[in-house]
Amino acid sequence: MGGNERGSRKLGLYIHIPFCASRCAYCDFCSTAGRRDLIPAYQKALKKHLTEAAPRLESYRIDTVYFGGGTPSWYGADYLVDLMGLIRKDMRLTADCEITLEANPDSVEAAGLGRLRRAGFNRISLGAQSANDAILRFLGRRHNWAQVPRAVEKARRAGFENISLDLIYGLPGQSREDWADTLRKAMELQPKHISCYGLKVEEGTPLWSRREDPDLPDEDTQADLYLYAVDTLAAAGYVQYEISNFAKSGYASRHNLKYWMGEEYLGFGASAASWLGGKRFTVLPDAEAYIAAIGSGGELMSELEEISLYEQASEYVMLRMRTARGMDPKEYETRYQNSFEPLEKLMESYVRLGLAQRMGDRWRFTPRGFLLSNRLIGELLDAQAEQKYHMGIPWRKEDYYDTLF
Ligand code: SF4
Repeated sequence: MGGNERGSRKLGLYIHIPFCASRCAYCDFCSTAGRRDLIPAYQKALKKHLTEAAPRLESYRIDTVYFGGGTPSWYGADYLVDLMGLIRKDMRLTADCEITLEANPDSVEAAGLGRLRRAGFNRISLGAQSANDAILRFLGRRHNWAQVPRAVEKARRAGFENISLDLIYGLPGQSREDWADTLRKAMELQPKHISCYGLKVEEGTPLWSRREDPDLPDEDTQADLYLYAVDTLAAAGYVQYEISNFAKSGYASRHNLKYWMGEEYLGFGASAASWLGGKRFTVLPDAEAYIAAIGSGGELMSELEEISLYEQASEYVMLRMRTARGMDPKEYETRYQNSFEPLEKLMESYVRLGLAQRMGDRWRFTPRGFLLSNRLIGELLDAQAEQKYHMGIPWRKEDYYDTLF
């Protein structure tokens, strides 16, 4: 990087807090349940990690910090404020840095939220999930719906204006009316951002044993609930900017957009993933292993790979097609030195099927296309693979003659 560019590169920080009060039935995130005893050692490891990494980040300006989990709100405001103080002291933050806290409605208290707000936290993402208490109990959630509006109110009083609610659809026995009720009650709280995730029954979770449960909505029902959410949220002014994410104008999550736009981020804590300097790496998904590795220099990472230009192009397709921004042919061809033409042909065929649309220079999926995105992205990647041998080298006839003379 040239000298005059120093300090101009933007970087997002992700801090993973792998602690929860208890385990939800569907959860496959890296988190321990009820292990308060581990928290002091984990905090010490996180601080050491941040302190040791900071001198290597002098050329970056941090424009997003995201505390995810796990349940950061259960970890405790004092620990989080302490971490944020360290980040501010040792790294350079932009003036408008977005600082997000993931929280659960049962573990937010007014005084703690006030301290977090004063420490610079300015966005809160609440795991609300459903307005149906029976469903919340089935999911193993510790809160009921009545705690959600109370948590939103506490956050507002503490000075949080940028509030997001996470919701889950496709729950066992969930009807369209039930989902409509959850959406309506969520929108009544006027959050700036709403995430809607389809329930996935993952192997290794308690819910896995119920994967054949006839109560679980089939694919058609999930699709119906999804499209209902897209229409309902659009009518209320929530713009869909990613498959599962909807926001009022100006309130898209800047941190999460980094993942989908291929921008750099650095993760701290167990299981935290990073994308930095053309490398992708992930910390071991185990809090005790993380504490030991940071403390004594043992094995820290579970993955480390340099991503080739071809793989970067594939990631561009996979990640961008999750977003409403979609793919930009010029950007694609310049970045990856590869023709967009085969992708364009496929996108044209999707437009004819109502699965995609062209927005100016860019191509994106429609909500129906998002529903089929796994299959469609697979087809786009196949088309891309056919010309893999072109990647990174000039391929036109003129280039051939240029190499001869
Ligand atoms: S609160 Fe979140 S991270 Fe914790 S167990 Fe439940 S779903 Fe998993």
